[in-house]
Amino acid sequence: MSTRSQLHPELPDPRDPADDTAGGDALLDRLGRPLRDLRISVTDRCNFRCQYCMPKEIFGPDYTFLPREQILSFEEITRLARIAAGLGVRKVRLTGGEPLLRSELHKLVAMLSAIDGLEVALTTNGTLLASQAQALVAAGLNRVTVSLDAIDDPVFRQMNDMNFPVQLVLDGIDAASAAGLAIKVNAVVRRGVNDHTLLDLARHFHGTPHTLRFIEFMDVGTTNGWRLDEVVPAAELVSMIDAELPLEPIEPGYRGEVARRYRYRDGGGEIGVITSVTQPFCADCTRIRLSAEGQLYTCLFATEGLDLRTALRDGDSDEAITERLQGLWRAREDRYSELRSEATEALPRIEMSYIGG
Ligand code: SAM
Repeated sequence: MSTRSQLHPELPDPRDPADDTAGGDALLDRLGRPLRDLRISVTDRCNFRCQYCMPKEIFGPDYTFLPREQILSFEEITRLARIAAGLGVRKVRLTGGEPLLRSELHKLVAMLSAIDGLEVALTTNGTLLASQAQALVAAGLNRVTVSLDAIDDPVFRQMNDMNFPVQLVLDGIDAASAAGLAIKVNAVVRRGVNDHTLLDLARHFHGTPHTLRFIEFMDVGTTNGWRLDEVVPAAELVSMIDAELPLEPIEPGYRGEVARRYRYRDGGGEIGVITSVTQPFCADCTRIRLSAEGQLYTCLFATEGLDLRTALRDGDSDEAITERLQGLWRAREDRYSELRSEATEALPRIEMSYIGG
């Protein structure tokens, strides 16, 4: 079995005593979790209208998205990322909304990848990837996660609810792969919607270097009509695939990795499952999220953010912003998914498209 350092030599484990990059003064929250990942939503707009994320009835023609001047500029985002890197962040992930809708995103990637020790990743629905992959790689993008809920074209068109064909996303994956990017493919599973097509998806990526990961449908936001009986537990998914393509579990690549990993016994690569609902992983969560308008959230289910746009635009110094970030992280004790219950259900929640998936 591979060790953590063999699998991900570039990713230190901050709580590993042998990890000398952690330092004795690593910034920890109340539950002892270090700050390592920054997710940056670069836009709240998307070209998809997936029912489980941005349903048309809410995000229709009359919906008001953030006006341009309220969205952080590339310079503002880069400044915050540099400050976060100084506090231990090792990876930024650009997301949204659909991040590739943000004009000239490759310029932001170049600015972020110039920050010492920072890995730059992207999560996208892949529809605009074919035309942008080369520029993104040239700018320093390290990895990409492409969301793809079905390989079956009618099911895919129905899920994105904008009639986008699946081939567009497959072309994006091919272009990203040809440009040299490591690719993960994420599929959200909803019972009765796409669970009958998951084996096809697994067969498609079996034998390729791309890792397919299944995500349990989460109760993010308030507009997607989430119901527990629509969640297909990851254990059920694994047995469904294992019955046709035998699997065996493998060690996590590093502490805090969100996916549970399995490899095909025939050497056809690996899959992952993200058990956000049935086996939450809050205890290892090292992520913080920046919304497109500069609110910082310590949890996908947080109800309040820290307004950094005002700090940036009021001329606060790097030191002052660093202190606010430190204060926020030190006070952090969120573990929403572990506490999920009737009481948490009643709490207000922010939409995934706003906070960044
Ligand atoms: N537009 C980009 C994309 O499609 O990847 C980035 C943003 S999107 C919000 C990020 C991811 O969140 C997608 O994989 C999407 O399927 C997932 N997502 C959205 N709502 C979800 C939910 N309720 N449960 C689980 N995953 C969800």
